[in-house]
Amino acid sequence: MKIRKCISCGRYTFREECPECHSQTYYPKPPRFSLTDKYGKYRRKLKLVKLYGDKDH
Ligand SMILES: [Zn+2]
Repeated sequence: MKIRKCISCGRYTFREECPECHSQTYYPKPPRFSLTDKYGKYRRKLKLVKLYGDKDH
């Protein structure tokens, strides 16, 4: 089991919900973070291509 952190109060817990303020929790150093960034870049590129495509038409 990995330890998680509350998005609201920063409390560490093993639960998906913070026992203190009932907010969502997340993994402090998620391995998927860089992957999400990659997708963001990819999306930006796609958006640019779409924009240029619209201009050509
Ligand atoms: Zn909390």
